[in-house]
Amino acid sequence: MEVKTVCPYCGVGCNIIVVSDGNRVLNIIPSKYEAINYGTLCIKGWKGLNYTESKKRLKKPLLKKGDGFIEISWKEAIKIAANNLKEIMERYGPDALGFQSSAKCTNEDNYLMQKLARQVFKTNNIDHCARSCHASTIEGLISTIGSGAMTTSIRDIDNAELYFVIGSNTTEQHPIIGARIINNIISGKKLILADPRKIQLSNFSSIHMRHYPGTDLALLNTMANIIVEKGLYNKKFIEERTENFEEFLKVIEFYDADRGARITGVDPDLIEKAAIMYAKSRSIIFYAMGITQHTQGTENVQAIANLAMLTGNIGKSGTGIAPLRGHNNVQGASDMGALSDFLPGYRRVYDDQGRRIFEEAWKTDLPSKPGAALNEMFHLALEGKIKALYIMGENPIISEPENEKIIEAFKRLEFLIVQDIFMSETAEYASLVLPSYSFAEKIGTFTNTERRIQMVRPFLNPPGETRADWEIITMIAREMGYEWNYNSPEDVMIEISSLVPQYKGINYSCIENEGVQWPVNDCKGTEIMHTERFTRGKGRFMPAYWKRPSEFTTDEYPYILTTGRLYYQFHTGTMTRKSNILEREAPFPFAEVNPEDAKYLSLRDDDCIRIISKFGELTTRVRITDVVPKGIVFMPFHYHESPVNRITNPNIDPVARIPELKVTAVRIERC
Ligand code: SF4
Repeated sequence: MEVKTVCPYCGVGCNIIVVSDGNRVLNIIPSKYEAINYGTLCIKGWKGLNYTESKKRLKKPLLKKGDGFIEISWKEAIKIAANNLKEIMERYGPDALGFQSSAKCTNEDNYLMQKLARQVFKTNNIDHCARSCHASTIEGLISTIGSGAMTTSIRDIDNAELYFVIGSNTTEQHPIIGARIINNIISGKKLILADPRKIQLSNFSSIHMRHYPGTDLALLNTMANIIVEKGLYNKKFIEERTENFEEFLKVIEFYDADRGARITGVDPDLIEKAAIMYAKSRSIIFYAMGITQHTQGTENVQAIANLAMLTGNIGKSGTGIAPLRGHNNVQGASDMGALSDFLPGYRRVYDDQGRRIFEEAWKTDLPSKPGAALNEMFHLALEGKIKALYIMGENPIISEPENEKIIEAFKRLEFLIVQDIFMSETAEYASLVLPSYSFAEKIGTFTNTERRIQMVRPFLNPPGETRADWEIITMIAREMGYEWNYNSPEDVMIEISSLVPQYKGINYSCIENEGVQWPVNDCKGTEIMHTERFTRGKGRFMPAYWKRPSEFTTDEYPYILTTGRLYYQFHTGTMTRKSNILEREAPFPFAEVNPEDAKYLSLRDDDCIRIISKFGELTTRVRITDVVPKGIVFMPFHYHESPVNRITNPNIDPVARIPELKVTAVRIERC
């Protein structure tokens, strides 16, 4: 059979046609869908799907007994799950529970997970990995333009004259968007790159600004100041469409080119050239975690919106802001309210009017206090305040900072449910493991980085006794006495489309052939947002002064560690590391060290080193390369053998509560 579905890896959301016999994938054909991947795929979508057939898939519910697990029936598993959560809620209160949802799962799964937390267990302690990647995008873009999502479309990339990529290694992390950018550059368009590392896009850039990690806000403010000084700003757009411009001017005047250069380490002439090129062109800004994973992550995102509004580079074809989402469904999981401070459709939990809509629909009172964020849940568990966690499709031991504390937190819990497709590092600590469908067995929807809601369809028979995530959550709610009458994910989507304004009127038949970009009205999508007015009415300039990152070099920790992903691997490797082809290409962890630093430390390629931060230490192998500038060390975070999040910086942005994973002071020693 041939089934059209969506790649389960990154947020680009490439369409694929899977040829299978129901038990095995026989071939993957890239769809010719021109809006996204147009007959192409990256290696992960093309060769990385056989993890779904792995013999290591979980097949039966497992209950911890002593140091191991025993197999149990679903009936027992659901009873145990519900009884334990209920007992803990009754004994310690609802906020003794925490729920972690998943950007790998469908919109329907995520909607039900947050509904379970809020309606059934009366807590806003529900979050997912957007907290560690794009929470600052949500806060930064909502406060400036009113909507925390990409303003344009993947197709519209072709209509820009210039791309400004800051803090995104696009060809490795969003390869099909990276390829589209490169194709356009080959046909004469321009690229400005801001990234401390030399990445593939460096070879295609007109300007590459290698700023010090954590100085993005100073760089963006300096560009804005130069644009104003040179009279290149769009006065008409600012007058008609924005507010708070005078306050913005007061802040950015501090950032003349020389000051900007001193803070960022970038030549002032280069900053000036970049500012002029950006202002004079129809430009799209692309960014990812290089912008968001900072203690000033929200302010970095606001600075990007400021720059786009300053030049009128938003709300029309070939312009805009493009936050690139890491997981296939980070956008959708956020839209569905799998966030501790937002109900579905980005209604704040403390907004009485918004909350009332769900209270009426779900026939219950809902908590109004924002819940604990992803990482806060582990701290609360360590303090004994959270007693049970229910984690769906995530592996925080590898993906989140301070992983030794997470392990300690798991040991202190009275009950830990992990719902997943494999026995992950996290699942090893579970009291109860619930085996679920992978995307290969699921029906539902994912929403990609450009807000496109797309159908996911099954092409393999479910292994063993696995169940769909939406179904498992529904069984627990029913066991708790709630009349959840969903018989399929389609039933869940009917409820979503009636309650989430961005998804208004969506149903499976209207996205059967092609997805649509939200906001949707009667199944008509929106390719370019903010054309006549911003979602919040007037766009608001939100200026901020740059502050030093929470970690900086000292005599004891003289290097800055920064982290990221590799082309061949994904997130914590639970999927990609089960693909022999992907694993063959990138099997080992490593740390990139600049040749001058390597010489100073007397290191040779492949030497074993110990990297030590205030938060922990690990060992890994050295890769000597000028990809990283002197003083900077880079490590990918996919590998449990050298789990870099054991040593990363857990300090958070106070608004978005995202950890500053991009800047950690470290020292390096030989093993
Ligand atoms: Fe999958 Fe992203 Fe690669 Fe497309 S670019 S094939 S969505 S991993």
